[in-house]
Amino acid sequence: MVDNNDIGSQMYHLIEELYPICRSITGDGVRKTLTIIKKHIPLGMQEIASGEKVFDWVVPKEWNIRGAYLKNSRGEIIVDFEESNLHVMGYSIPVRKRVSLDELRQHLFTTEEYPNWIPYRTSYYRENWGFCMAHNRYLALEDGDYEVNIDSSLEDGAMTLGELVVPGKTSDEILVSTHICHPSLCNDNLSGIALCTFLAKHLMESRPRYTYRFLFIPGTIGSIAWLALNEDKLARITMGIVVTLVGDSGGFTYKKTRCGDTELDAAVVHALAHSVQTFSVRDFVPYGYDERQYSSPGINLQVGCLTRTPFGEFPQYHTSADNLEFVKPNQLAEALSVYQRILYILENNKTYRNMYPKCEPQLGRRGLYENTGGSNERQPNQMAILWVLNYSDERHSLLDIAEIAGLPFEDIRFAADRLIKCRLLEEVS
Ligand code: ZN
Repeated sequence: MVDNNDIGSQMYHLIEELYPICRSITGDGVRKTLTIIKKHIPLGMQEIASGEKVFDWVVPKEWNIRGAYLKNSRGEIIVDFEESNLHVMGYSIPVRKRVSLDELRQHLFTTEEYPNWIPYRTSYYRENWGFCMAHNRYLALEDGDYEVNIDSSLEDGAMTLGELVVPGKTSDEILVSTHICHPSLCNDNLSGIALCTFLAKHLMESRPRYTYRFLFIPGTIGSIAWLALNEDKLARITMGIVVTLVGDSGGFTYKKTRCGDTELDAAVVHALAHSVQTFSVRDFVPYGYDERQYSSPGINLQVGCLTRTPFGEFPQYHTSADNLEFVKPNQLAEALSVYQRILYILENNKTYRNMYPKCEPQLGRRGLYENTGGSNERQPNQMAILWVLNYSDERHSLLDIAEIAGLPFEDIRFAADRLIKCRLLEEVS
């Protein structure tokens, strides 16, 4: 099934490599993850000390885990961290003691609806410990004492952020952000990491118009910390997108920016409309991924979020079933191509002035009228030529024109390039 040269397979291989690592909002799992991403792109890593105040929050203590198990009174291992890192609640404090079944039950988490799946739970900001397990196994627990062993540490350390700036021709920036804090979960976490890695890799092969800032950060506290420490950079960020949940088989869903009618919103909707059969668009709500931090009133960046099935709307979400079978190379590749199409539009969306606005310029003389020229060169769509000439009135961008004409942006861009060559169009600066 896996072809190494195919981009979807390369994205999938990266997910396979990252899948076993136990990540959290801090700790060696994050460092290991960023180090693997660094094999593909020259990511910078920044450590922010535990205890540092970032806006209204404080960078938490660093959490690491080496192993954990739960044994019954016969000494049999009932739950083992080695089998799945989801078995231990994220940020569980170190524990080594015997407990009764009643006490143990207060620290066990299951999902009744899907009795064979392990749920994903964390307790970042309240010290606690817990095991997550399949509900079927939970039902089979016998009375008696249990041995709890969680070999973790929660100590002063640091939180690690990954960042890459791909320089462009202008200092205007597009922010691309993904979270890196989930353990063995593929769609929610790893698919976004894979897409951002390959999107950055692709951009680095060219010299884009915009400067791109990629953030690989733990959810919530990571974006809050980055924003608190980089307020001087915010004015350059013209727009941004949060990437996650791009590997499942569902259709695309775009969550608009807080403003709702920005160039980014138009570009995403246009790219989706001309790439896939069905998709949905939702208004901004102050809940979800890191777009809620970027879009807080005092930050006010225009940041959207493009996923396949939104979080919480697929049964596998935050369970052990969000695994390597749930994401597919072709789905990852399709998502990457949609993102690339969005960036192509943003990179190439400019506004022009028609140099001969009084009636139509004579196109035939310039080889721009249908059936003239007779060359084998690709000819622009005739209607695209006419739309571009008519709406290049200094007020409509090429994306505006593509929308009015109902034509793909690429056709409008191609027609504009030909008109520029014939000196019929001039860029409005
Ligand atoms: Zn999540």
